[in-house]
Amino acid sequence: MPGLLDTLLGQEPAVATLRRALAADKVHHAYVFDGPDGVGKEMAAFGLAQALLCERRGTTVEGARGLFGPEPPIVFPTTEACGTCSACTRSLLRAGEKRPVHPDLVVLERGLYEPSQIGRRTPETQDISVDQVRTLVLARAAFGPHEGRAKVFIIRRAEELGISAANALLKTLEEPGNRVHFLLLSSVPDRLLPTIRSRTQRLRFAPLPAATVAQILEKEGKSNEEALRLSARSEGSLARARQLGDPAATATRDEFVARARDALRQNSILPALAIAEEGKKEKAELGVLLDALAIAFAEEGRAAALDGDGADRAAVRFSRVLRATRELDRNASPQLTVEALFLELRG
Ligand SMILES: [Zn+2]
Repeated sequence: MPGLLDTLLGQEPAVATLRRALAADKVHHAYVFDGPDGVGKEMAAFGLAQALLCERRGTTVEGARGLFGPEPPIVFPTTEACGTCSACTRSLLRAGEKRPVHPDLVVLERGLYEPSQIGRRTPETQDISVDQVRTLVLARAAFGPHEGRAKVFIIRRAEELGISAANALLKTLEEPGNRVHFLLLSSVPDRLLPTIRSRTQRLRFAPLPAATVAQILEKEGKSNEEALRLSARSEGSLARARQLGDPAATATRDEFVARARDALRQNSILPALAIAEEGKKEKAELGVLLDALAIAFAEEGRAAALDGDGADRAAVRFSRVLRATRELDRNASPQLTVEALFLELRG
């Protein structure tokens, strides 16, 4: 079984950078993996973590005694996780799990832990709390690896680190201790505190080529035709393509469009504001919802044009939704963008 890094498609420059660092034993102690959602940042982070934790990487194992004498020794490369040792298997996420079982691979994410696990009374609704950083990082980073080769912290949506959480991390990011690594993931790295940015090395992940998205979708069981159709609308994000091809997500989109239209018909502003809550969703997911709304307005416009009535309004709405999606792409705050959009659509 190959290492995870070896199976990552479409991110050759980033992977090559990581391999060079592994080969030279110069893996930086703190990276920001930045790029759109759903292009492989997280897979690369788990791949790098796996390589750092692998028990066999860069070693030579004596050959077993075979039927015809001793077999040649196996030499594991320094750039690759072996993919099969216990550390390698435990570094991977099992289906449906958001955390691996390896004690030296720690994942931080807003809301990932029960409040009581991180010494809180209330759930983390706004940001990654200082409590999470204290419990998971500060209490552990100082002691170095549990089992052996490294200790790795992966922070999902690192821009959600609260100010006090980020400040609590700074000292550790500066002097992380031997073989301790931080991998911060973000699709909006500009929103990281400058103090965090200056202490981390940035590694960019580009949108995936459509052909790569199609290739992965086919491997996942989509027909060639479906894979091509979805990849063409994916904007280089596998997450987005999967969303578009997921029947449950289709129901969610239909429901969102129905709710949005209903909110725009009401006199009260409250239903429209309630929709702004959708801004808390993952950005890839929100983008898909807004696209569905834009398509709905476009269809409304076409239908209205045939009747000769209301086509202008639909056209204006369509362009406003498109503008909101562009603002999201330019890293505007999702919640404020959706709120402003719905206030405008009502006007
Ligand atoms: Zn291994």
